[in-house]
Amino acid sequence: MTKAITGQVFHIIHGSFVDGHGIRTTVFLKGCPLRCLWCCNPEGQQKTPELKASLSRCTFCGNCLNVCPPRAIAITSPAGEKKIEIDRELCTNCGKCVEVCYTGALEIFGEIMSVDEVHRIVAKDREYYKRSGGGVSIGGGEPTLQPRFTYDLMKKCQADGIHVAIDTCGYTATKLGRQILDEADLLLFDMKGMDDEDHRRQTGVSNRIILNNLARVGEMGRPIIIRMPLIPGFNDSRQKIEDAARFLSRYKSIEKIHLLSYHQFGTIKYTQLGRPYPLQPLAAQGADELAAIQQILESYGLQTQFGG
Ligand code: SF4
Ligand code: SF4
Repeated sequence: MTKAITGQVFHIIHGSFVDGHGIRTTVFLKGCPLRCLWCCNPEGQQKTPELKASLSRCTFCGNCLNVCPPRAIAITSPAGEKKIEIDRELCTNCGKCVEVCYTGALEIFGEIMSVDEVHRIVAKDREYYKRSGGGVSIGGGEPTLQPRFTYDLMKKCQADGIHVAIDTCGYTATKLGRQILDEADLLLFDMKGMDDEDHRRQTGVSNRIILNNLARVGEMGRPIIIRMPLIPGFNDSRQKIEDAARFLSRYKSIEKIHLLSYHQFGTIKYTQLGRPYPLQPLAAQGADELAAIQQILESYGLQTQFGG
């Protein structure tokens, strides 16, 4: 018997309108090679499962304390107010506490699923895809970090007539990772900036591999939507936007640039995962600044839209 190909999945969302064309089912995979300072999906960064604690839901029933093998949970009352505390150094993310937490205060991000299991779930939405021109989007995290799983899931969906979009940071140097980018029906490709030094400081990795991959799929004429987060003071100066526009305008298969304006919606997730938020709060761009960015990109013949 052949072994089933499995992956670490942390979320499946039905009915998304922002992950490609039409109505989509989006599969989120664990693990990302980048550490963008502004990341709003920190639950996707680590490859392994992670305990999330929404402590406002805790009723202090104490169930979790009794089942935690390494005794990583404690109820404390530092300033007379009860608090549940998780020692992340001790926690092994085993998930035993989640099974007895009936309020939903504790959850585990990350579940091992097979290609067939995920395919069965996403195929149920086939009618929505047909009617809306939608399909499945595979993101994360970074889907090329689980290349075998992502490739097999993509091929199984495509063989079944389901359109597949890959939401990628573009940082992959493996043969199978590149094949995923080359054979996807649509790429939702993140573009964080052209300056390599900036890129290293802000994401933890060089942008060389990313830009080479983008250039390759652009030259192949693969359908691409660029996603560009606009981080105040990081990648939004006139010069930096012009550099990006000059590069992107070479590739005619880029359908659109989705501009993602700065927000801090992910901050709470860092607290829930017991991690500090890596970026000091920044003042978001005003409407005039955003319009100027859009105008620069469009002056290079690129189509833009905010959101998505
Ligand atoms: S996930 Fe396991 S180790 Fe971590 S707090 Fe819960 S029971 Fe304890
Ligand atoms: S089981 Fe859930 S609700 Fe009960 S103390 Fe633990 S975290 Fe709080």
